Amino acid sequence: MADNMIAWDLGADRVLVLTIDDPSQATNTMTEEFARDLTATVDRLESEKDTFDGVILTSGKDTFFAGGDLNLLMNAGPADAESIAAGLDTYKAAFRRIETLGKPVVAAINGTALGGGFEIALACHHRIALDAKGSLLGLPEVTFGVLPGAGGVTRTVRLLGITNAVLNVVGQGRRMKPAKARQVGIVDEVVADRDEMFARARAWIAANPGAVQPWDAKGYKIPGGSPSSPALTANLPAFPATVRKQLKGAPMPAPIAVLSTAVEGAQVDLDTAFAIETRYCANLICGQVSTNMIKSLFFDLNSINKGASRPAGFARRKAEKVAVLGAGMMGAAIAYVTAQSGAQVVLRDVSLEAAERGKDYSRGLLDEAVAKGRITPARRDEVLGRILATDNVTDVKGADFVVEAVFEDLELKKKVFAEVEPLLAEDALIATNTSALPLSEMVTAVGRPRDFIGLHFFSPVDKMPLLEIVVGENTGDEALARAFDFAQQIRKTPIAVKDVYAFYANRVIAQFVDQAVAMLAEGAHPASIEQATTQAGFPVGALALLDEVNMKTTLKIQRGAIAAATAEGSTYVETPGTPVQERMVEEFDRPGRLAGRGFYDYAQDGSRLSLWDGLREHFHKPEVEIPFEDMKERLLIAAALEAARCVEAGVVRTVADANIGSLFGIGFPAWTGGAIQYINQYDGGLGGFAARADDLRAKYGDRFEVPESLREMAAAGKDFG
Ligand code: NAD
Repeated sequence: MADNMIAWDLGADRVLVLTIDDPSQATNTMTEEFARDLTATVDRLESEKDTFDGVILTSGKDTFFAGGDLNLLMNAGPADAESIAAGLDTYKAAFRRIETLGKPVVAAINGTALGGGFEIALACHHRIALDAKGSLLGLPEVTFGVLPGAGGVTRTVRLLGITNAVLNVVGQGRRMKPAKARQVGIVDEVVADRDEMFARARAWIAANPGAVQPWDAKGYKIPGGSPSSPALTANLPAFPATVRKQLKGAPMPAPIAVLSTAVEGAQVDLDTAFAIETRYCANLICGQVSTNMIKSLFFDLNSINKGASRPAGFARRKAEKVAVLGAGMMGAAIAYVTAQSGAQVVLRDVSLEAAERGKDYSRGLLDEAVAKGRITPARRDEVLGRILATDNVTDVKGADFVVEAVFEDLELKKKVFAEVEPLLAEDALIATNTSALPLSEMVTAVGRPRDFIGLHFFSPVDKMPLLEIVVGENTGDEALARAFDFAQQIRKTPIAVKDVYAFYANRVIAQFVDQAVAMLAEGAHPASIEQATTQAGFPVGALALLDEVNMKTTLKIQRGAIAAATAEGSTYVETPGTPVQERMVEEFDRPGRLAGRGFYDYAQDGSRLSLWDGLREHFHKPEVEIPFEDMKERLLIAAALEAARCVEAGVVRTVADANIGSLFGIGFPAWTGGAIQYINQYDGGLGGFAARADDLRAKYGDRFEVPESLREMAAAGKDFG
């Protein structure tokens, strides 16, 4: 047993400590070797059980256990269903043997335990979590398009009841801090240090020599009742409706499968419930959606967040004193995330009143966090104390990092740069948050063009994870490296983009919303357009989104895009939706939510009411029938084609960036794995995608023209990778 990665350490007190430590990896995961060692360990537990009185299961890493081997799951296809099911059953069998060993088994969860890693803990009789820094617990499988298939759904349902298990643990895949996990009920105790963790584990073993799982105890009933109980039966019909409402018809199989596993499994004995769970899980793993989601939302995202595209050779740097120029909507929020990251912030506006109003934005968010018990008042004061609101430009003296967020006005921005530059640290990085102005024109006002860069944030800044780093013609590699470091410091996901009009994400989103409005112009029913958008998997209806952004803004962007495209000699100047937006703004004075009226009517408090009746009167043509499938695919394909053009033109540097930028920047549907992955996995591959785009082009216009590079890849039988 010398080469078993689960170390066996039997103490004089007859408590056996099993420590999982895979020497080949930084974290423990469910590899084939682990499965083999686990089974060997369980064999030994059974044969030597007279030598110990209880077991403590822990890990030799900083984290407890990271979970399933996502590489394996990502690459599984329909042909692998049997072997995947067999793999799940191996774990289920081993876990079942642990919980029925006849000895108390305690999980000493010394750090993060997610997915399969947490399922091991669920097979123990008692769970003690160490409140380690950054430690996260839970079953996040659903966020990768799968479900916890090593007993996770079955055990949480039996531990917590269907409602609590689905809503708080398996349904949305929440990753919880230990205290939250304790509150939800998936761990029993939370401790502050390791010694205490082991002491409590030993004490629990001593006090519970005959421990069994709740579901193996006599007279056990599922908390809250099994589906045959009248109270639950009354509530159950609402469950699928709730999930479907959340999904808005999007083709996301995992949340539905989780629910089916929970409900069906609660009506049968444990073994049958396990079999049901395995079947649903194997189907998900072998499907395309989980492949897409694991690829983008796990592998690509992790490598981007770790700085895969950061130029090498420059020491990592933390921004210490950050000058945020302009305390409006964006500046105020940028100041908030920057102060959270530990940097000192000078928030400067033209009047002290405006600057203070900007700081109030942080105060509001921090007060709310205190009220909800998420942070202490001391932490609020500490973060607020880092923000200096000022109208005095000399306060930026010595800043090593500048983020400019004044009005979108070229001359003003140039004036602001010229004003602050002499006051800054010698090698300060100067960034602009412009949405669309070319860096190449602003840079003339900056003395050190190599240190000038764009940081394009998305609103609301504290919620939106994406940051586009705009690389100007003169931007140096060191500046780019520092921008990546800053993104990491403020916990944003950075993608480097070229200094072209509207950069990347907004170019892609513009195509999707333009198709929606084009359909309105053609006479489609407005409610069908909204339905097509959410059924395609976008988070909100396209018309609602336009109202949110405001059509005065989108029109300005579109006109700018037309001018920029014309100047570049591009043929993509046609935007079929523009005339509708012009009428909405100019003829009907309905620019969007802020005005209280747009495609929708809004209540006094800004909440969305119903679609404006006038849309039917002015645009809807009942005789026009656009096939619903065409409506959905026009939205997806128009956006995906623009993403492909951006890859072709080097607007983004990698396919991973293109996918993550579309998912995080525009809400491209998660089930696709991103706009380029959507093309890669289209039925028939790139050829199938191109044929469908050609078909849409014939019916709906030149926006569906396929880039040459895509056709060439299709002809060569390749994809984007
Ligand atoms: P805003 O109008 O809310 O704020 C601009 C602020 O700049 C105002 O408070 C104004 O008083 C201040 N200001 C003007 N002149 C100044 C000066 N000389 N020195 C210091 N402050 C000055 O605008 P916003 O929405 O925050 O946008 C700011 C920038 O961010 C623009 O370039 C915009 O294009 C860009 N942007 C906006 C969004 C968005 O969603 N609104 C998204 C990304 C980028």
